[in-house]
Amino acid sequence: MFGPVMSSSVALSLRCAASGCQGIRRSIATVISGNKTSKLVRNRLKEEVDKMTSQFSGFRPGLVVLQVGDRDDSNLYISSKLRAAAEIGIDAKHVRLPNTATEDEVLRSIMSINENPSVHGLIVQLPLDSVNHIDSELITNSVSPEKDVDGLSCINAGKLSRGDLSNCFIPCTPNGCMELIRQTGVSVAGKHAVVIGRSKIVGAPMHDLLLWNHATVTTCHSKTPDLPGQVGRADILVVGAGRAEMVRGDWLKDGAVVIDCGINHVPDETKAGGKRVVGDVHYASANQRAGFITPVPGGVGPMTVAMLMENTVQSAQRFLLRR
Ligand code: NDP
Repeated sequence: MFGPVMSSSVALSLRCAASGCQGIRRSIATVISGNKTSKLVRNRLKEEVDKMTSQFSGFRPGLVVLQVGDRDDSNLYISSKLRAAAEIGIDAKHVRLPNTATEDEVLRSIMSINENPSVHGLIVQLPLDSVNHIDSELITNSVSPEKDVDGLSCINAGKLSRGDLSNCFIPCTPNGCMELIRQTGVSVAGKHAVVIGRSKIVGAPMHDLLLWNHATVTTCHSKTPDLPGQVGRADILVVGAGRAEMVRGDWLKDGAVVIDCGINHVPDETKAGGKRVVGDVHYASANQRAGFITPVPGGVGPMTVAMLMENTVQSAQRFLLRR
């Protein structure tokens, strides 16, 4: 879709002549920038929305972010989604229900948004922050599949698992990972891909997406024996485990594409706030072995928001075609 977006200090190959090992490549990986790639995606989407607006007399894609309660981390994620939407020209609204909301009240709110024709995308910010018991699976599956731009309902997950990619919404984080893999120019077809994690949001849809892009896929989880051995067979590795710096550089196959979804806060006295964010991959050592690598932060994170916008614009386009 776009030409490669790489860090300038990239693709530096060193021969370790000093130690006499000519021919053995010690490389510094090419860094795949999620910041730059997501900016390109957002620019393209803005152009598409401008076109829609002028062609269909003021029409704009509509997005609703439904929140229950008032978690600080959710507030932060929501504000970055609303900001990105505003930049692109998507009409985004934040609907917040109090933390005393019952399951019935949340369902009623979803039903009324499902029926609103000016809303093309509806996401329910998880986790739900309610004093009442609310079945989040039921809530996720109550979002109309045509508006489920997070791609988390069983209908969309089922279509993805069957390979019906052009007819479903692909969850935003795996979709962003695929876009970053495309940036490397490495073809997925025929490669051996390893995914660490099998969650509904990251690991399981990532497996499906790689599979239907014709990779041979191994999915690992907390009960997988010999994780380093599995990782060592990966031409493409996607990690979504939530374990700080778990994957070490010496586990990797030389030249692998490494996509790190992890967001982990670790103590760091040198930083304001006393902590910093690291991925699930030990970046310094992986950088010596991988062919391509995503940084944390600035890798998968910004792509997740961009792909939410992509799904919303796509949903609005499908709506216009159905009219
Ligand atoms: P979950 O906790 O839902 O899933 C983690 C998965 O990793 C599980 O399948 C678990 O296995 C597996 N796992 C945990 N520990 C190990 C281990 N030691 N070895 C092998 N597998 C392991 O997390 P999420 O999928 O929601 O998130 C994963 C990471 O991605 C987190 O750091 C999260 O913050 C980040 N994230 C980032 C996003 C972004 O926009 N960048 C968006 C969403 C998530 P099992 O199933 O057996 O328990």
